[in-house]
Amino acid sequence: MQTKLLIGGALVDGSGAAESILDSATGREIASVREAGPGQLDAAVAAAEKSFTGWSQTSPKDRATALIALGDRIAADGAAFAAIESRNTGKPLAAALNDEIPAIADVFRFFAGAARTQHGLLAGEYQPGFTSMIRRDPVGVVASIAPWNYPLMMAAWKLAPALAAGNTVVLKPSEQTPLSTLKLAELLAEILPPGVVNVICGRGASVGAPLVAHPRVRMVSLTGDVATGQKVLAAAAGNLKRTHLELGGKAPVIVFDDADLDAVVAGVRTFGFYNAGQDCTAACRIYAGAKIYDRLVADLTAAVKTIKVGLQTDDGVEMGPLISASQRTRVAGFVERAAAQKHIAITSGGKSRAGGGFFYEPTVVAGALQADEIVQREVFGPVVSVTRFSDPDEAVTWANDTEYGLASSVWTQDVAKGLRVAARLQYGATWVNTHFMLVSEMPHGGFKRSGYGKDLSVYALEDYSVPRHVMVKL
Ligand code: NAD
Repeated sequence: MQTKLLIGGALVDGSGAAESILDSATGREIASVREAGPGQLDAAVAAAEKSFTGWSQTSPKDRATALIALGDRIAADGAAFAAIESRNTGKPLAAALNDEIPAIADVFRFFAGAARTQHGLLAGEYQPGFTSMIRRDPVGVVASIAPWNYPLMMAAWKLAPALAAGNTVVLKPSEQTPLSTLKLAELLAEILPPGVVNVICGRGASVGAPLVAHPRVRMVSLTGDVATGQKVLAAAAGNLKRTHLELGGKAPVIVFDDADLDAVVAGVRTFGFYNAGQDCTAACRIYAGAKIYDRLVADLTAAVKTIKVGLQTDDGVEMGPLISASQRTRVAGFVERAAAQKHIAITSGGKSRAGGGFFYEPTVVAGALQADEIVQREVFGPVVSVTRFSDPDEAVTWANDTEYGLASSVWTQDVAKGLRVAARLQYGATWVNTHFMLVSEMPHGGFKRSGYGKDLSVYALEDYSVPRHVMVKL
């Protein structure tokens, strides 16, 4: 198991405290990773700063070549990457291998192409006697901080646009799930010039916070909790760093009476429980029209009871455990508090699974009301609530009545109605008759407390670069 950090092109052991890395499906240790000591953090930032001059001046073609090589090598070694990812997070191996690895390789390949095809305003004489032109240049050293739910995917989302734009990076994976990123570090060391990407491990307080506060870091990109985003923003104020925040979500799923019920049930069964619901776009907050509500609750409950929960390589496994014991306690707390309300019925699940690992049953919370905690707060677990609405305006108002604004979906056989509702939703993404589908070409990011800053698409390339005006006196 590769447990060394990558600093200035060299793979080195961390000099800080050791962190025990667990298999979430068994709770047993699979590796011990030492976090970066303060000197190593400084060395990583210094290496990124030193390599910036060279990397920022490489041609888009050369940067694209490196990104394509990264995508190709990840795809070629996909089985090994998927095995590490699924072992650490507990997620089904098939999901890591067949869903995530191809998407991760595609992110590197997309940004390779995007780096070479940027558009902008025309150069021209906007003032007689002067020619103006626009450049888009990199920001500098970027500190990228990733969460535990899709460790390698989040590393790809952060690295590919930052590198394509000509930045250098210090990447910190989650202290709970560093292993796939540390394997990636081997490829980064081989393919990129020393210092262009540095990978350092450690906890938020001991490594994340000083990295964000570092005076030589010019931009911080975080995917994580809202509270972490607030801390990062405060720390970034020190030298006015650019920030790129992708925070939580609580996706509304508006189901009109005319929706295709089977499609809704299949969609929520998949997209509400994928990755054990530890997904900021999870289809977790259903608003069902009064006429379809009873059938939806009955059919969804029956469907959710058939989700196969198990170990990473169990035959046909669809859902794994939560990431940690504390995450499971948190999820169970939300469900217990919901179940204590008279108007709520837990129609499926609602319990932890006995034995090792951090399993929690796929859960449906029926009869939830708009003001309930289970409707308002992000659970980040395999828990879906269903709320009845009586008129479409009420559904749209409730969907928008939250502090989150990342993802949403509308289900109806009237596509015009779907589009009208989509236009009124304050969410970074709205799907009509589907949910959760991401493509490298389209932006992913939020409104409100879900943060700002776009991942994927040419908009990410813009976020990781600065438009500049160059004017020549003729
Ligand atoms: P977290 O905020 O606890 O941790 C995220 C990362 O931030 C980790 O690497 C952690 O070490 C680091 N960190 C923690 N405190 C820090 C500090 N003070 N300074 C700098 N770094 C610090 O989040 P998590 O529990 O790993 O992930 C779950 C959260 O991430 C959920 O809320 C989820 O919605 C969100 N998420 C959002 C998206 C998105 O695209 N919007 C995607 C995935 C996850």
